[in-house]
Amino acid sequence: MEIKNLTPQNVWSIFDAMTQVPRPSKKEEKIRQWLVGWAKEHNIECHLDSTGNVLMRVPATPGYEDHPTVVMQGHMDMVCEKNSDVKHDFENDPLDTYIDGDWVTARGTTLGADDGMGVALALGVMIDPEAKHGPLEALITYDEETGMTGANNLDEGFMTGKILVNIDSETEGQIFIGCAGGKDTCAIFRYAPVPAPDRCYLKVKVSGLMGGHSGGDIHLGHANANKVLVRFLRSQPDLVLASITGGNLRNAIAREAEAVVGLPEARKHQFLADLNQYVAVIEGEVGDIEKGFKMTTESVDKPAHIIEPGVSDKLLAALQACPHGVQGMSRAMADLVETSTNLASVKMPEPGIIRIETSQRSSVESEKEDIANTVRTVFEMAGAEVTQGHGYPGWKPNVESPVLKVFAQTYREMYNKEPEVLAIHAGLETGLFLTKYPDMDMISVGPTMVGIHSPEEKVSISSVESFYKYLREALSRI
Ligand SMILES: [Zn+2]
Repeated sequence: MEIKNLTPQNVWSIFDAMTQVPRPSKKEEKIRQWLVGWAKEHNIECHLDSTGNVLMRVPATPGYEDHPTVVMQGHMDMVCEKNSDVKHDFENDPLDTYIDGDWVTARGTTLGADDGMGVALALGVMIDPEAKHGPLEALITYDEETGMTGANNLDEGFMTGKILVNIDSETEGQIFIGCAGGKDTCAIFRYAPVPAPDRCYLKVKVSGLMGGHSGGDIHLGHANANKVLVRFLRSQPDLVLASITGGNLRNAIAREAEAVVGLPEARKHQFLADLNQYVAVIEGEVGDIEKGFKMTTESVDKPAHIIEPGVSDKLLAALQACPHGVQGMSRAMADLVETSTNLASVKMPEPGIIRIETSQRSSVESEKEDIANTVRTVFEMAGAEVTQGHGYPGWKPNVESPVLKVFAQTYREMYNKEPEVLAIHAGLETGLFLTKYPDMDMISVGPTMVGIHSPEEKVSISSVESFYKYLREALSRI
């Protein structure tokens, strides 16, 4: 059996063709051209907006002219990951796909079912002679995976529908109705390097923590290396600070942090004894999940300079006062983190500057602003210069959403069970649409795929078939 002949054939033939067109994020020219050509071939109205998103439009099927316009949405780019022993040029080579039981997958690379299958399902409906629906639009965004650039730059008025079905979820039977918005808060401390006094200098290092994604994993309670380090340093009198760094990516929980401190020779013994005790305290608090936690010291040479003590004291105080972790849970959705903040990194990019990156998330816009301003205030009170990004809006779950009701009811009737209705504490393109389309009624759904963003990525053939029937049925009821 060839992939393009799987059922439903209209969907699989589109997907199969897309796997032969390179489409790495930020390099979508080829797939964009392919989409435009596909629309032309099928006589479908097709538009590009000023930044490169694609919109296709088909009229209602006979008898459905008075139904509202529905936008089906997916993204044209894919994550490009491969096994190290595989030779593959994602900018030029077609994917080497094959069928493995109920799965379609690719040899040694990502498959791009995320979100090629979403796009194929949307286009498949548009050319299906048996589908019944009101006017349909297919919005195909670019660069979802490395910045959501297409969704961010989407032209106002580009889509006309007020109902949007995002087809970029990965488990059949789940319906997403909310996501978190985000904002970054960055603080800069400036200091005059001061010649290092004669003391004994130690490097203190926190390592081996679990870390994780600052959205998806923030509720797990993993320790933040920056917080663990600073809490100890703040408990010690008479320290001077020569350097401090910790964490790396803005959207990751800090796994490692280290500082070089100077202390009077006479305090060294007590410092080490206190540290041993402190390690036991942290193990008592998080040892059940942080199995690899380590906090070590080593003697180092006297550095040339330290951070001027007036600044380092305030820096450490601000890092201790800065909140980190879950700030609030949703009452509308069980187990959904509503608001959180991540004390992501402390870096010293050049002498005289300490830069702290933090990021805040919430599915409630006002709460996102509130936590971002809380963090800003902490650092401003300590004398730092604070800048904030524009951020992106959250998508607040609406359990009364009309499009949710249609999709949930259709699911119940077709499968005789309840769909799972969920929201996630991370960003989705749907959140960004709300900036220019604040009244959009939206859900996110999709057929079952596993291993996305990895060479293990595969999509279920039986799930695509049943999801397609479901999508078609639900669209006919809107
Ligand atoms: Zn995706």
